[in-house]
Amino acid sequence: MDQELLNLLACPVCRGSLQITKDQKSCFCDGARRHSFDFSRSGYLNLTAGQKLEGDGKASVRARRAFLEAGYYQPLSNRINELLAELDAKKILDAGCGEGYYTNRAASKERCVLGIDLSKDGVDFAAKSAKVQGNCVGFSVASIFSLPVRDASFDTVLNLFAPCAEEEFLRALNQNGHLILVGAGERHLLGLKERLYETPYLNPGRADLPKKMPLLHKETLHYEITVSGNAQIQALFSMTPYYFRTSDSDKAKLDGLETLTTEVEFDIFIFRKG
Ligand SMILES: [Zn+2]
Repeated sequence: MDQELLNLLACPVCRGSLQITKDQKSCFCDGARRHSFDFSRSGYLNLTAGQKLEGDGKASVRARRAFLEAGYYQPLSNRINELLAELDAKKILDAGCGEGYYTNRAASKERCVLGIDLSKDGVDFAAKSAKVQGNCVGFSVASIFSLPVRDASFDTVLNLFAPCAEEEFLRALNQNGHLILVGAGERHLLGLKERLYETPYLNPGRADLPKKMPLLHKETLHYEITVSGNAQIQALFSMTPYYFRTSDSDKAKLDGLETLTTEVEFDIFIFRKG
């Protein structure tokens, strides 16, 4: 992680600023206690400061990664990148970045993105991909409800399918900064639900929209995908919030299914600070 990205981060204990050591293996804060943090082998920083790690485990991270890398959600990633370009976003926080698919695709040499997630396995995957690409991107393991970032240091926060931590986003954003928030649209994965349930229901939409930030823009991205191979279909299913609420007998309906065509739909919101 280069110093430019490190300047956006803060010590999770005392909020001091972070400095890289000469050997580049760790960093330390400028507070009186000089808290220090090691970079992982893949290059991310663990800034949880003793918090309990949660988030998705290795198997679900790997399944999601394989699904995303097959490109089924690439139109969403492309649309997010178009919006970032329109907003002239330069310093972006991806809050709840998971395994970094959207984060790494949003970053470039000029556009710096910092991905934060509580899943160590997710962030590890993300940091490994980032190394190959050489863009201005870095990752940290931390809770988005207690962001180890400096106040007013980002012009944009991305919040894709992760909980909305509005107070922390407001603190992280500079004046007139933007929050791009994405959730499942009401017809998202209807084709998958038709396979699983007698009476498939529409998604209710995100209930945790920010309350203090004015909405600038809302759009819906809708298209159809055909998922090939049972492993990919199962991966897609395991990414849904209703996976854990589905009975074993309903889950079994996907066994042996090799092709699935379904609508996908995303609601994209842009909010502004101030
Ligand atoms: Zn400190």
